[in-house]
Amino acid sequence: MIRKICLYYPPLVKNGMFPLITQNRQFKFSASREIRIYPLVMASLATMLDAAGYDVLFLDGINRRISLENCEKILADFSPEFMVIETKAPLFTAHQDYIRELASRINCRFAICGDHISCAGAKSLSAGSPFSWAVGGGYYDFIIKNLVDWLNGKINHPPPGVFYKNSDQNIIYSQDPESGAFNLDEAPLIDRDLTRWSDYGEAYLYRPAAYILSGRGCGGANTNHQDYTSSMPGRCTFCIWQHALWRRKAVLRSPESTADEIEILVKKYRVREIFDDNESGGIWNELWLENFYRSLEKRRLTGKFYFSSNARADSLTPGRIRLLQKIGCRLLKVGVESANDSTLARIKKDENFRAISDGIKNAKDAGIAVLMTTMVGYPWESSAEMQHTHHEVKKLLLYKTHFGDSLQSSIFTPYPGSPVYDQSLAENKIDFSLPLSAYDMDHKVLLSEIDTGRACHEMWKLHLHPLFLLRSLFAMRHADDFLLALRGIKSLLGHLGDYRIENDRGN
Ligand code: SF4
Repeated sequence: MIRKICLYYPPLVKNGMFPLITQNRQFKFSASREIRIYPLVMASLATMLDAAGYDVLFLDGINRRISLENCEKILADFSPEFMVIETKAPLFTAHQDYIRELASRINCRFAICGDHISCAGAKSLSAGSPFSWAVGGGYYDFIIKNLVDWLNGKINHPPPGVFYKNSDQNIIYSQDPESGAFNLDEAPLIDRDLTRWSDYGEAYLYRPAAYILSGRGCGGANTNHQDYTSSMPGRCTFCIWQHALWRRKAVLRSPESTADEIEILVKKYRVREIFDDNESGGIWNELWLENFYRSLEKRRLTGKFYFSSNARADSLTPGRIRLLQKIGCRLLKVGVESANDSTLARIKKDENFRAISDGIKNAKDAGIAVLMTTMVGYPWESSAEMQHTHHEVKKLLLYKTHFGDSLQSSIFTPYPGSPVYDQSLAENKIDFSLPLSAYDMDHKVLLSEIDTGRACHEMWKLHLHPLFLLRSLFAMRHADDFLLALRGIKSLLGHLGDYRIENDRGN
C-alpha cells in the first residue's frame, strides 16, 4: 500500500547554475537567481493526491535553492514510498543516473513524467532504468493520481497514458487517454500552502506574485469561438509543450473557476500580481475573456491585483485590449520569435511580422507593458536576417516604452518530440556529435552561420540602450517599481552571463 508520496525536483546544479525545468518550455542552466517558475501541473498533482488522503511531500530543491545533501535529509525524514520526477530531454540522463543511485539507498519506487517522456515513454523504462512507470502528455496530474489509486487497488485497471513493466518485465502501454478525458474544472484548486507558492516568482513580476493556468494548450490564430476549446490550436514547430504535452489541442477552464482561484490568491494570500502561464493565456478566446471579466467583476476583484498573461500578438485586437484594461492587465508576454516573415511561415507561427508588431503596439498604446520573446539560431537565417530581427525588436522595445517593457531571447532548439526536430533531422541540420544533455543553450545543436551565444547576448543587451533606460526610469510610478527594476537588473546580469560568445567557449 502506498501512502507517502514525494514530488521531487532534485537540484542537479552545473557550475553553480540551476536547471530551469519547472514550468519552463526551453531548457537551460541559468546563473540568474530570479527565475523561479511555479510548476503548476506538479502542484495540481500534489493537491489531488493530498485531497485523496495520501501523505505528500512537495520538494522543489531547485527553486527552494537547497543543496542535494539537504534535499536528501528531508527525503530521509519523510521516507517516501513513491516518487515522481519531471524531466526534459537535456536532463533525462542525469535524472536516470541520480535516481538509479538514490534507489540503491532508499526503499522507494519511481515514476517519471514531462515533455520528453511524451516521445520516449517506453524507452525511459528500458533495461537498467530506475523508473517503474512513465507518463507522457501534460495531464499527468490526473493520470498519476489514478496510477497511485490503481497501485493501491482502488481502481481495477491501469489508467490510460501510462507505460509500466509487467511481472515479466515487459513494457506495457495502458492506452491513449480519450479526447476530453480530463475536465479541468473538476480538478481541485491548487493547495498553495502544500506547494509553497511564496518560493516562486520572476524578476518582471511584482511581489507577492502567483501563477495560474487558465487552461492547457495554445488556442492559436485569432478567431472567435463559441466554446472554450480551440479548433485552430497553435502549431509552431518548435513549441515543445504544445506538441508533446497538449498534443496540439487547447482547452480553457471555466472563467468562474479561474476567478474563484484568483479570489483566494488575492483575499487569502494578498497576492499583488497573478501571471497566467497557460501557453497563450485565455486571451485567444474572446468569449472566455468577456466572461472572465464579468466573473472578476462579480467578485469585486478588478483593480485589486495586477493581471499578466502569455498572449499571441494576433489576439491583441482593440476590443480585447479594452477588456484586458478593465481586468487590470499590467503585462503581456508575447512571442515575436523573428521579424522575418519567411521564418515565421517556416516555423508555422500563423502570424506575419506586421500582425505581431500591430498587436504589440495595440497593447502598448493602451498602457500595457509587453515582454517580447525572441529566438536566434534558425539554421536557414543569415546574419543579415538575424540583424533585421535585432533592429525591429529594438524599435518595438523603444515604441512608447512603459516601465516593465522587456524582452527575452533564447536559442532555437530542436527538442525531440517537436516537429522542428524531425524537420532538422531530415534536413541534416543537427550536430549529431552532441548528446541530448547538450541541448542546453550553451551548445550549438543546430548548424547555423550565426554565433548564437553572441546573438542572444546582443538581444538581451538591448535593455541597456540609453533611450530604453531613460524612458523606463521616467515611467516609474510606485516606490516598489525601484525594487522591480533592481531585480530586473540582477536578472539581466544573470542572463548576460548565460550566453557566452563562441570564442569564449572554445567552439
Ligand atoms: S503561439 Fe506560442 S504558445 Fe502557441 S504554439 Fe506558437 S509558440 Fe506555442
